[in-house]
Amino acid sequence: MTVRLPIVSEFSSASLPTDGRREKIQPADVRGRFQRARGVGFAFLIGLWAALPWVRVGGHPALFVDVESHELFLFGLTFNPQDTWLLFFLLSGIGFGLVYATALAGRVWCGWSCPQTVFLEGVYRRIERWTEGPREKRMRRDAGPMTAERVARKVASHAAFGVASLLIAHIVLSYFVSLPKTFAMVRQSPGAHPEAFAWVVVISSVLYLDFAWFREQVCVVLCPYGRLQSSLLDEHSLVVGYDARRGEPRGKKGAEGAGDCVDCKRCVVVCPTGIDIRNGVQMECLACTACIDACDEVMDKLDRPRGLIRYDSMDGLAGKPRRIVRPRVLLYTGLLVIGAVVAFVATRGRSDFEAALLRLPGEPYTTDGDGVRNGLEVHLVNKRAEAVEYRIDVDPAEGMTALVPMPTVIVPPLGDVRVPMFLTVASGHFRSEFPVRVRVGRTSAPGDAKVVSATFLGPSR
Ligand code: SF4
Ligand code: SF4
Repeated sequence: MTVRLPIVSEFSSASLPTDGRREKIQPADVRGRFQRARGVGFAFLIGLWAALPWVRVGGHPALFVDVESHELFLFGLTFNPQDTWLLFFLLSGIGFGLVYATALAGRVWCGWSCPQTVFLEGVYRRIERWTEGPREKRMRRDAGPMTAERVARKVASHAAFGVASLLIAHIVLSYFVSLPKTFAMVRQSPGAHPEAFAWVVVISSVLYLDFAWFREQVCVVLCPYGRLQSSLLDEHSLVVGYDARRGEPRGKKGAEGAGDCVDCKRCVVVCPTGIDIRNGVQMECLACTACIDACDEVMDKLDRPRGLIRYDSMDGLAGKPRRIVRPRVLLYTGLLVIGAVVAFVATRGRSDFEAALLRLPGEPYTTDGDGVRNGLEVHLVNKRAEAVEYRIDVDPAEGMTALVPMPTVIVPPLGDVRVPMFLTVASGHFRSEFPVRVRVGRTSAPGDAKVVSATFLGPSR
C-alpha cells in the first residue's frame, strides 16, 4: 500500500507558480521621490565601491586584501593573519546591525543598499531599458515573432550585460591583486596568470547569470535574510504597506461607497518581485518603494492625498499608534552597545607587532663547566607597513648571563625575524626550572614593550 505523506507547505510566488514554471517579471518604469533618492543612493554606492581601490590611505588602497602577503589594508590600518580573530567582531557586527536595522526600519537594507538591488536596478535594468525600451514594448516584442529587430535588441542587451559583468569582475579582482596588477594582467595573455583569469571568468559568469536571468529569484528563493523576516519584524517595524482601511472596497473613481484604491494595478506592475502589496506584507517584498511612488502618482492624478501605500508600521496601517521604543529595540540597543564596547576595547588592545619566545631546535638545555645553558629565540612580527627597529632585553635572574647577538633589530615592513639568544645559569646557581622573561618593544616607544616568557630548563635534582 502506498502511504502518501501530507504536503506540509508549498512555496509559490508571483514569479514561481506552484507548477514550477518561471514567470518572467518585467517591472514597469516608475518615477517619484523615493526612486530619485534610490537612484542617487545607487550611484553613490557604486561610485564608492569602484573608487576604493583607487583611493590611497597611508600608501595603500583604502580597502585592499593582499592575497600574496595575506594582509588586509583598511583605511590606513593593516591587519595580518594574527588579527583574524577581529573578523568575529566585523561579521557579528554586520549581522547584528542588519537585525537591528530590520527591527527598526524593516527591509531597508534590501531595497536601498543590498548589492543585488544596487547592481540590478542601478546597472542592468537601466541597460535593458536603453536597449529594449520600456516594459510594454519589451513584453509586446517578447510575445511576438522573432524579428531581426528583436534579435538585434536582445544581442545588444546581453552583450552589454556581459561587458558590465566583466567590468565588475575586474574591479572585484583589483580588491585582491591591486589596481596596477589588474591593469597589467589585462594587457597580458590569460596563460600568464591562470588563477586570476579563472576567477574573473567565474565571477563574471555568476554576475551575468544572476543579473541577466536569475534576478529577483536571488531575493525570493536564495537569500536567507529574506527568509528570516517573519522573526525579525514585529507590528511596530517600518514596512512598505497598503492602507486597507482607506483603500477598500476598491472601485472606480466616484463609485458609490468605494475606497481610495481604484484597482488600477500600477502598484503591481512596477513591483520587481511581481507581488500585490494590497494582499498584505509579504516575504517577497524588498521594500523597494516602487509601489509607493506608483500609487502616489495615481493619487496625485485623482486629487487624493498621497500615502495609500506608504512607509508605516503594521499597527500604523491598522490605525493604531506606532511605538519606536519597545522591548525588542531596547534589548537590541543594549546588545549593540555591549558589542561595540567589547569591540572597541579588543581593537584598542591590538598591537602593531607580535612577539613570542620560543626554544631553539635541538637539545632543550646543555650543561658544561660554566653551568646550564638554554638556547631560545624571539620571533618578531612587524604588522606595520614600514620597517621598524625593536629592542630586546632579557630580565636578569640570579646567576644568569644572557648573550643576545642582536639586541636591536630592524624588521622589514609586514615582515618577521627570529633573534636567537643564549642564556647561561652559572654552576651552583641552578636549583630548578624557572620562568625567563624577555622585554620586546620598539626602540622609539619603549613604553609599549611586551613581555614574553619561556621556562629555563635544566637537570632535575
Ligand atoms: S496603485 Fe494605488 S490605486 Fe492603483 S491599485 Fe495600487 S493601491 Fe490601488
Ligand atoms: S511590494 Fe512594493 S515595496 Fe515591495 S517589492 Fe513590490 S514594489 Fe517594492
